[in-house]
Amino acid sequence: MTERIYNFAAGPACLPIEVLEEARDNLLSLGKTGIGILEHSHRSKAYMAVHEEAEALCRELAGISEDYQVLFLQGGASLQFSMVPMNLLARDQTADYLVTGAWSQKALAEARRCGNVHIACSSEDRNFCYIPKTCTFSSRPAYVHFTSNNTIFGTEFTREPDVPAGAPLVCDASSDLFSRPLPISRYALIYGGAQKNLGPSGVTLVVIRNDLVEGGPKDLGTMLQYRTYAGEHSLYNTPPTFGIYVIGLVLKWIKKQGGLAAVEKVNRQKADKLYSYLDQSRRFRPTADRDSRSLMNVTFVTQDAALDEKFVARAKQAGLDGLKGHRSVGGMRASLYNAFPPAGVDALIQAMREFERENG
Ligand code: PMP
Repeated sequence: MTERIYNFAAGPACLPIEVLEEARDNLLSLGKTGIGILEHSHRSKAYMAVHEEAEALCRELAGISEDYQVLFLQGGASLQFSMVPMNLLARDQTADYLVTGAWSQKALAEARRCGNVHIACSSEDRNFCYIPKTCTFSSRPAYVHFTSNNTIFGTEFTREPDVPAGAPLVCDASSDLFSRPLPISRYALIYGGAQKNLGPSGVTLVVIRNDLVEGGPKDLGTMLQYRTYAGEHSLYNTPPTFGIYVIGLVLKWIKKQGGLAAVEKVNRQKADKLYSYLDQSRRFRPTADRDSRSLMNVTFVTQDAALDEKFVARAKQAGLDGLKGHRSVGGMRASLYNAFPPAGVDALIQAMREFERENG
């Protein structure tokens, strides 16, 4: 087999090796069924067990009660930018958005198509390098939407924002869902694409409180209503079966690590080590404000665009891939999701140290 290298990509991203091995072993035959996981009918008994186990593990690990639906959808987090306002925002209502990066801006733009929007805070003034400390809400928001981790700008909310009493809190947690314990009762709806911490691309996890499902409009297209998925256990039509299977494997792996508190501990150690190096470096500098730093996506620069490029190329030669920062920020981005191994952080620091020696 070709040797695997360290993959710092922002998503799709690296998956635990044990998960990949188990998926590989079940490609030709899922257990003893004689039919591979990619080939099973979504109505088969074997697949139903996979589907139910993935949902049960989501509930167990994140402590999700029967007051919520756990749904597996398609269309990415980007479709949720539309489905959230379509289902929760009436024409004459206002939804409040915390704008902390490009993904929040995209979510906001979709809400504008459905009703009124109010920007409760924004960090655009400094190219989204921080999480604002205060928000100003509209008088009775239909819901408040925020992005818990800003994948591109490397910033993260350290806790849920305080919202006006009774306002449903909605979160795009695409890049930190299941990377730390989830205080689910704070949320009315939380969603994320699977392709960072949870599995392959093609599945979007939506956890939504029952009252929001029931209260949604009934005149939307069938596939755009949450009740369609809730009523049929995410099996109204053919779900992304392989993706849901891999999510189940990743969740089993998280459970084996000790659950969400345990993976958070390792995620924190990885990020702290990298930030500590960056803080003392005379060549590299982190781009996010200290109190807003993401544990998932560590963004940094050499403070010289040509050297950034040189470092990314040099790192790639050393088997450290996917470090180029998003074009709107430049520099580098090291994504350290659950499955990213601590040894990869050591290898990156080693590469930076050598680069610094050569490039002053
Ligand atoms: N929100 C966030 C925070 C993201 O990081 C991404 C993807 N990188 C998206 C939304 C869009 O997700 P998708 O590509 O699954 O639509």
